[in-house]
Amino acid sequence: KPRPLIAGNWKMNGLAESLDQARAVAAALDAKPAGARVAICPPATLLDRLSAALDGSSVLTGGQDCHVKTSGAHTGDIAAAMLIDAGASLVILGHSERREDHAETSALVAAKVETALTAGLEPIICVGESLAQREAGSALPVVTAQVRESLPAALAGQAFSVAYEPIWAIGTGRTATVADIEEMHAAIRAQLVELFGGHGATVPILYGGSVKPDNAAEILGAAEVGGALVGGASLKAADFLAIIAAA
Ligand code: 13P
Repeated sequence: KPRPLIAGNWKMNGLAESLDQARAVAAALDAKPAGARVAICPPATLLDRLSAALDGSSVLTGGQDCHVKTSGAHTGDIAAAMLIDAGASLVILGHSERREDHAETSALVAAKVETALTAGLEPIICVGESLAQREAGSALPVVTAQVRESLPAALAGQAFSVAYEPIWAIGTGRTATVADIEEMHAAIRAQLVELFGGHGATVPILYGGSVKPDNAAEILGAAEVGGALVGGASLKAADFLAIIAAA
């Protein structure tokens, strides 16, 4: 069974001063190593400096997206090789905010996953239903379809994780119940095993959506929860460390 992964997604938050929060996380984990793997995915402008600040520590860094192409005329976009160049070892792909803000489809996410793997990045592939989809009773088919369509065959044998993030739980302070999380993670697990056989049984399935110090132990203790993708609470070292300690 792989170590759990606790990844912080800073989203479009963080200026130079935020590096101090990351340094504090690294220093605390140096003093008392965590059971989990820990990563921070800052905005692209901070990635190079963050990787340098964390060099020699146990904390990994990651990007929040990459372009499907490897280089070229794509103004404002970032190539997978650039993330590597800036010290990243992971990349978040298919976050619901990318799917919404940038109309990313699961087919595009799958293509980006292939690009990321070729570059040598470990993808964290996000899936999750909207509130309307949950209320309509279609959360399970929506999310399992996202898993099928966002995960290319090229992932076979590769290191990656899937993050289940119900959109209605992101940044709202509202978390899914443990029963809902376990039901969804079991469905994702079944899909992963169908796609990748024995390897699919070992892929960490992270939960994301209002994970905080006070609910982390309950969520991380749920069946088939192999870590967390943490937004708001990853911006403060003390909160992020408390979540890491619960893994
Ligand atoms: P919050 O933890 O702020 O709800 O964000 C979750 C998320 O979207 C992480 O990718």
